[in-house]
Amino acid sequence: MRGLRVSLRVAIGLIAMLSVSCASEATKRPAEAVDDRVVPVDPSHFIPEALVSEIVKEQRSLADGTTAWCYVIRTHSEPHEHAMGPWSPKTITDGKEAGGIWIRDGQVYDLDGPFIRNVAEFYDDPEWKLYRDDGTVRVTDTKEAFEAAARPDVDPKFNNYVVEGRPEWVDRKVNEYVIPVHPVYQDKPSFFGRPQGGPARGARPDGPPPMGDAGDPNRGGAGQVVLAIAFNGVKFDPPAPLDAILGAHTLAPFDHAGGHLNPHEGYHYHAATGRTKEIAQSDGHAPMIGYALDGFGLYAELDAKGQPPTDLDECGGHFDAVRGYHYHAGAPGSNRIIGCFHGKPGTIGEAP
Ligand SMILES: [Zn+2]
Ligand SMILES: [Zn+2]
Repeated sequence: MRGLRVSLRVAIGLIAMLSVSCASEATKRPAEAVDDRVVPVDPSHFIPEALVSEIVKEQRSLADGTTAWCYVIRTHSEPHEHAMGPWSPKTITDGKEAGGIWIRDGQVYDLDGPFIRNVAEFYDDPEWKLYRDDGTVRVTDTKEAFEAAARPDVDPKFNNYVVEGRPEWVDRKVNEYVIPVHPVYQDKPSFFGRPQGGPARGARPDGPPPMGDAGDPNRGGAGQVVLAIAFNGVKFDPPAPLDAILGAHTLAPFDHAGGHLNPHEGYHYHAATGRTKEIAQSDGHAPMIGYALDGFGLYAELDAKGQPPTDLDECGGHFDAVRGYHYHAGAPGSNRIIGCFHGKPGTIGEAP
């Protein structure tokens, strides 16, 4: 099985090289690789209402500076299938419908009132106290508080706060994603992130360096890093910097769709929870949920039988005959959508 996969990868690489040099695709293509191919991006998958302007095909620069035919996709990064929020409950007796979710060690927890009340016990740390004596939750309730608490170096005034933004506090920017029409598989994956930092919570100890929101030397475009885009135009971000968040005794909850707001980047997902447009696969494979920035397809974690794939590489991808190389989003509690890019990534920036 592994040998077959390796030979398929070699075949894909050859095909990509040959098509660049305009040579015949038929040469050296093994019989068993007939249906195994790089699947081009299908722009019709995106929800039309999510687009600020029609998707255009242009020759553009990829992140590594090379030029390729790309789709230019402009969106507000706002969901169309679900509302944004809620994130934090308002009192320690609120039920789970009043809040979003929080993650720890691969698990997803409802962020309800009792979670807030028990958080010191949950983290086994008496310094946690996210509520006042009257039972109200200490949550950022002004734009200024949100911006101060959402900084990577949390303003100490907001230690022991739930950090929650509201859509009206965030600039409504237009994001421009540039994604190669024909993804180019590369044997060596590329990482965007904080290789100098310790492994993020949820990363495998022997895994590749984690990708994180902060301190990234490889930020593209307007200083943003993004892994993938959902069909509703919302971005999938690198892992939330849980060490910094928890170190300040703050929580930065996600809503039930796995998203929250950042003062500068707007709404984005850290988890794929099945609340966005999915494209079902007739063979029982996990549904497609978007595209990675390198143009390879992004699929949900679980297949029709509720099973995760067992042969993913370090980026969270693998090959099959129908979908070519593609990624599967990590489990919702893993704080990871994909681990790296196996294709040449495009770019994300603010639209001019
Ligand atoms: Zn975030
Ligand atoms: Zn798959």
